[in-house]
Amino acid sequence: MKIAVCASEVVPFAKTGGLADVCGSLPPALEKLGHEIVIITPRYKTSNIQVPAPIVRIGENIRVCFVENHHYFNREGLYGEGGGEYQDNLERFATFCHECFKTLKEIKFAPDIIHCHDWHTGLIPILLKTNYQHDPFFKNARSVLTIHNLAYQGVFPKHKYDRLGVHGRLFHTQGLEFYDQINMLKGGIIFADAVTTVSPQYAKEIQTREWGCGLDGVLRNRSHDIYGILNGLDYDTWNPEDDPFLNFPFDAANVNELKAHNKLVLQVALGLPSDEKTPLFGFVGRLCIQKGLDLILEVIDGLVARGAQVALSGVGDRKYHRMIEEAAARHPHKIGKFLKFDEAVAHKIYAASDFFLMPSTYEPCGLGQMIALRYGSIPIVHKTGGLADTIHLYDPIHQTGNGFVFTEYGRGAFLKAVEEALKVYRHQDQMTDLLAQALRYRFSWEKSAKEYVKVFEKCLS
Ligand code: ADP
Repeated sequence: MKIAVCASEVVPFAKTGGLADVCGSLPPALEKLGHEIVIITPRYKTSNIQVPAPIVRIGENIRVCFVENHHYFNREGLYGEGGGEYQDNLERFATFCHECFKTLKEIKFAPDIIHCHDWHTGLIPILLKTNYQHDPFFKNARSVLTIHNLAYQGVFPKHKYDRLGVHGRLFHTQGLEFYDQINMLKGGIIFADAVTTVSPQYAKEIQTREWGCGLDGVLRNRSHDIYGILNGLDYDTWNPEDDPFLNFPFDAANVNELKAHNKLVLQVALGLPSDEKTPLFGFVGRLCIQKGLDLILEVIDGLVARGAQVALSGVGDRKYHRMIEEAAARHPHKIGKFLKFDEAVAHKIYAASDFFLMPSTYEPCGLGQMIALRYGSIPIVHKTGGLADTIHLYDPIHQTGNGFVFTEYGRGAFLKAVEEALKVYRHQDQMTDLLAQALRYRFSWEKSAKEYVKVFEKCLS
């Protein structure tokens, strides 16, 4: 099968979150199954490539084509700066979608499947069925849209409709219109041949009123074409045995000793008293309401009062930057923070922390908890979306489970999960057992890639 992957961020070139991880690691997994892939993505100012862009490949032989547009993409941010969105994001990503078609023709890659990701590429399924409907080059092409986070829909004022460059009038409820505005994701959902999302549980949740972000009705109309496929993790990139960011790379045989060494290094770096016995709770993620920052900040004094240290890294809403600064000022010896997007710091926190805080209000899949497991940082999660699919309560008696889970979203339940974690921490044999389980866990891309292929085949049949 010939598959064109179109995405706004792809590791190792540009990343703001899990979308980039997925778009950098699913294509190589598909390639291993024998499919031919090209990736198309914008070249940003910050993209990790030389200028002018040479022919870049990832995986065995996946060609990566960069859409160049100085005006639209040569900026400091991917989607915005200083906490605000760029005002011309519709124009930026509509242009990107049009360029994807042009690029495919230029490189003479007639795809069977165009695999689109999130609202930035929501226009592609529409263009395929309008502007390119009668183009013989795309005669066999079908589109699949993967939703990585339903809350981001690409909503814009209706007066911009003409700038989309779509042939035909689609500003109506069965098209791009959503409460008198343009909604790029909605259009993509309606026009794609299949829709996938990144965990089975989230696939169910988004079809409910509570978690449908206003699009649950649109999604329910397509329920036969919606598939939940769990993300995998790239275990070559996320490998504590061979991680250039770690002072003390480790494996299952020496995890106890070397995680403690990594903890001492991080404590010094964050200005915390060094003590390998102090339980350390880590957080790495976007600082936004979704990631449960409110809950973390509500219980952080309680965590500290229970003798723990906390290490947080992230960027996002100004409000949370400020609240984290305040918490750290209250407890300078207990709370360490690094409020930037920084790969090295992220890896160090995963490796050094004993527990990983992920009390997300909702979570489409979540990679943080998978990475944390791989680095022996035991996840403490809210039972929602992909977190519910991947993390199961540890049972010390039967030695099953891989983390701590709370169901009801609130301070009390979260603190209770934290207390259970601390109880296990104090039982060294239990902690050793749990660590060993965590390190063994694998969320395989091979299995998920095969599920994607099944969806693609269904679209083509
Ligand atoms: P989301 O895609 O919703 O942001 P995920 O858990 O799926 O959340 O993926 C987050 C990815 O982004 C992980 O690879 C995580 O390590 C990375 N990440 C998030 N914040 C930071 C940061 N401040 N510095 C470095 N990496 C980060």
